[in-house]
Amino acid sequence: MAPTPEHADLLVIGGGINGAAVARDGAGRGLRVVLAERNDYASATSSASSKLIHGGLRYLEHFEFSLVRESLRERETMLRIAPHLTRPLRFLLPITAGQSRPAWMVWLGLKLYDALSGRQLLARSGRLSRDEVVALPRLRKEHLRAVLHYPDCWVDDARLVLETLLDARTRGADIANRREVTTIAPAENGYIATLKENGHERSLHARFVVNTAGPWANQVLEHSDIDLPSRKLRLVRGSHVVLAMPQPAVTTAFTLQNSDGRVVFTIPWLDGRFLVIGTTDQPQTEDPATAYCSDQERDYLLDCYNLYFDHPGGPAGAHDIVWTWAGVRALVDDGRDDPSKVTRSARFIATRNGAGGFVTVYGGKLTTHRRLAEKIMRRLARMGAMMGGEWTASAALHGGDLPRRQLEELAAKRPPGLSETLARRWAFTYGSETMRLYDAIASEPALAKEIARGICEAELRHAGDVEDARNAEDFLYRRTKMFLDINTRERRKIEQWFSCV
Ligand SMILES: Cc1cc2nc3c(=O)[nH]c(=O)nc-3n(C[C@H](O)[C@H](O)[C@H](O)COP(=O)(O)OP(=O)(O)OC[C@H]3O[C@@H](n4cnc5c(N)ncnc54)[C@H](O)[C@@H]3O)c2cc1C
Repeated sequence: MAPTPEHADLLVIGGGINGAAVARDGAGRGLRVVLAERNDYASATSSASSKLIHGGLRYLEHFEFSLVRESLRERETMLRIAPHLTRPLRFLLPITAGQSRPAWMVWLGLKLYDALSGRQLLARSGRLSRDEVVALPRLRKEHLRAVLHYPDCWVDDARLVLETLLDARTRGADIANRREVTTIAPAENGYIATLKENGHERSLHARFVVNTAGPWANQVLEHSDIDLPSRKLRLVRGSHVVLAMPQPAVTTAFTLQNSDGRVVFTIPWLDGRFLVIGTTDQPQTEDPATAYCSDQERDYLLDCYNLYFDHPGGPAGAHDIVWTWAGVRALVDDGRDDPSKVTRSARFIATRNGAGGFVTVYGGKLTTHRRLAEKIMRRLARMGAMMGGEWTASAALHGGDLPRRQLEELAAKRPPGLSETLARRWAFTYGSETMRLYDAIASEPALAKEIARGICEAELRHAGDVEDARNAEDFLYRRTKMFLDINTRERRKIEQWFSCV
């Protein structure tokens, strides 16, 4: 990797989705970009989302039309530029007697959703026929008035961050994980930051700084001498629980209206082998890094699922859960009591220093990260940054230059000895970069040897050499989700592999 330059046009703090998008956009416009992520890329909120590229149907209730419109349009952009990571997902919305939102209201909402979407690739919303409803496995049919449907998209959030960053790197950005910004102070025409990396500290002069530290955005300001008013943040935890897919499997996602008026999603995950149920809205008072799904949140999610579905062998309980995750939304505190109603729109606060400028980002959505970066670039341009125009809407991400059909073909053309399951997983994880793994095996067939079930040496090398994975957790939880497929003994082997490189 290139050494950190002593001068940069733009320093980005934080390697979540917002930092990644800003780094990519800036690098593609010709700025010299440095990005610092103190842990692993996407190790915070950006790997703990519900993984939806969605308009956010419920934001219509809060009249957030422009956010919904912008989000809906980004669905198709993501399908085009990251087809290996993004896929359309059909949502079913059961309407039962006595729900706070009656069928006509939801129907109108869906028609507005269609109208705002500028839809070209995705289907329109509608209502299932009686026969289709009867055929739905395990959905409780008593009290059911109707089942509506609408399209949104699913994405691998951690890989979206990674591949946005890898794309930024191919355009010249200097990005690194385990690189922390410890101090920032104004300097002539910009800012001087201290970067701590591999136990060493060095100084970097950056004309512009964008603070995308998510839940830690105000902490970054506290550790700096920047005279910038901070916004009061509201930290709201959202948890998910994961079950092995109950049989018979439900292949579509569901939007369930819970008895308290909140909405809970059930989402088939990892080729329909698992079922995700989420999410909650709980105040997070501890350090966001320690967020976890509480017993109360777990029971809340299971109760909602059990209200709508028959589970094999009786209601689903804690013993059915194979994993949980929780993330923390860093929302701008707008004084509302109900955290579900706080706006998901991003807010920026900017200040200038000579010919330089500093921007802090608050809030936002995974869905709108690309648009957020465009807005930041506009803001930097207004502060005097010289750069190219908008470009990210049509440029494929790293690995994203093959449509889904060709990815299926790529999996079918796998080298001899590689299983179909593995080749498919690679195609829909690494996209066109799968060819690099195939080439590695072609020139050194021993790399196809499995270190653990479904994980061969070629993949681990790729994770370390190309994707900056430094340990088993980086690989098993964020480069892939293979931790769900291996046992403790196999996990130890992966740990050993990383400790030897
Ligand atoms: C439960 C939940 C579900 C969600 N579901 C969805 C969804 O389905 N769809 C959607 O569109 N949005 C969703 N969101 C919102 C979305 O996940 C967030 O808006 C987005 O991930 C925020 O990204 P970020 O880059 O701002 O923050 P983060 O991902 O938290 O990244 C901030 C990074 O900054 C780093 N950092 C902090 N301080 C420093 C420092 N001093 N030096 C270097 N690095 C530093 C941290 O380590 C961290 O990696 C969800 C959010 C939550 C919590």
